[in-house]
Amino acid sequence: MKKLTIIGIIAVALSSCSSGDKKQDSKATVDMNPRFDAYKEQFILNLWKVYPGWASSQGYHKYDSVLTVPDAAERTREINFAKANLDSLKSFDISNLSDNNKTDYHMIENQLQSSIWTLNEEKSWEWNPSEYNVSESFATILNGNYDTLPKRLHNFFVKMNNVPAYYEAAMKNIKNPTLEHTQLAIEQNIGGLSVFQTDLNDAMVKAKVTRVEREKIEARALLAVKAINDYATWLKNLKNDTPRSFRLGKELYEKKFEYDIQSGYSIDVIYEKALAHKKELHEKMFTIADKYWIKYFDKAPKPADKLAEIKQVIDKISETHVKPEEFQSAIEQQIPALVKFIKDKDLIYIDPSKPLVVRKEPDYMAGVAGASISAPGPYDKNGNTYYNVGTLAGMPKDKAESYLREYNKYILQILNIHEAIPGHYTQLVYSNQSPSLIKSLFGNNAMIEGWAVYAERMMLENGYENNEDEMWLMYYKWNLRSTCNTILDYSVHTKNMSKEEAMHLLIDEGFQEKTEA
Ligand code: ZN
Ligand code: ZN
Repeated sequence: MKKLTIIGIIAVALSSCSSGDKKQDSKATVDMNPRFDAYKEQFILNLWKVYPGWASSQGYHKYDSVLTVPDAAERTREINFAKANLDSLKSFDISNLSDNNKTDYHMIENQLQSSIWTLNEEKSWEWNPSEYNVSESFATILNGNYDTLPKRLHNFFVKMNNVPAYYEAAMKNIKNPTLEHTQLAIEQNIGGLSVFQTDLNDAMVKAKVTRVEREKIEARALLAVKAINDYATWLKNLKNDTPRSFRLGKELYEKKFEYDIQSGYSIDVIYEKALAHKKELHEKMFTIADKYWIKYFDKAPKPADKLAEIKQVIDKISETHVKPEEFQSAIEQQIPALVKFIKDKDLIYIDPSKPLVVRKEPDYMAGVAGASISAPGPYDKNGNTYYNVGTLAGMPKDKAESYLREYNKYILQILNIHEAIPGHYTQLVYSNQSPSLIKSLFGNNAMIEGWAVYAERMMLENGYENNEDEMWLMYYKWNLRSTCNTILDYSVHTKNMSKEEAMHLLIDEGFQEKTEA
């Protein structure tokens, strides 16, 4: 009914806009904002019907029991949804909207165009097998605190019904996948099995389910586990004589950058800026390293090469690091210290009622980031934010040592500033308070990442760790990582950069430990 009403209003507004000379007048008198607000509200409700998994992840739990099967019909449904809404957007005269709504208009437009482009042009649903993994959405149901456990278990049970069909569709979709994404898919899917085994079992014990219920749930979980295992086996045995390159190529990369980052800069300009910034950072680092040479190396001769001198000083400072088994607890202990510094300096308000939970990175996420934030959405403002930390357990000794040298005493603090306080965690808490649901849900990647990067420097400029030179040197090294990532991304996807060239960039020019690189 609501949808019909809105279409009715659209028709009226359109006719009043197109009446010749009076156009200017009617534009001035008809405020399009209420109609646009109503449209946004309805758009989001419809969005959740098309993307139930996304809805759950944002704390909108009406469709928790729905698992969408990623088949051709589903892709058509998504494209039709995007096209219909792009048409609806056209019915609004953007110059007539408030600044707030103008931004929302562009964000919705970008989101819809991006989804059409992803399905029709990028087509990662064909070549990226790691796009298919159900574990996280099921784990979120078990971890949530938004409803009673028996109710959540019921949704978990209903949702499991589509797991076999989900992977059937995945196997139908995949054509000449990249070898890298194939390997990642195998590891992450196998890593996610524990959600349907130990995690599910723990939840059933906690919920004290009856024996009959348990048998019912377990029977279905077995089918889910089988479907995941079958998918992994199928990928392992997949005949793939002409795998696709993991490189996107300039055309796709350029478009993806445009949709994902929404920057005013083109990729070529960003790349040039990164190259120039790398040079500037090297100069700043050299000034500090050269000053500290005597402290660390006394009268030993300095290397002729500036970068080699910086590297030796960094290598020395990196020796101060925690033990492997203390990695996660060191991060946990850091959080209150960062909160205190921000309070003492009155830098930004941090809401103490929004829980931040440091946890071992779940296996279904492994192999990509090492440290990341999983934030609750705007419908679940008080839900847990997880700070996912990669584990060093099982890592060979030399690898663990290299990893800890990278995340030494200084870098570990900058990592915590970046990921948590006042970086991503803080920004995402604030983002959920936005009066515009569109802004909270769609976000802006340049803003999200940019805030965390800004926060690092802001903390140091406010005297964090007493402005120590070592801290600044390590900050520059960390900032160099973002800078090198920009160069790396562009070069790998558009310039055929080889692995050796990449390692040279990250290790010799970015001063990264081999494990990190
Ligand atoms: Zn060591
Ligand atoms: Zn970040």
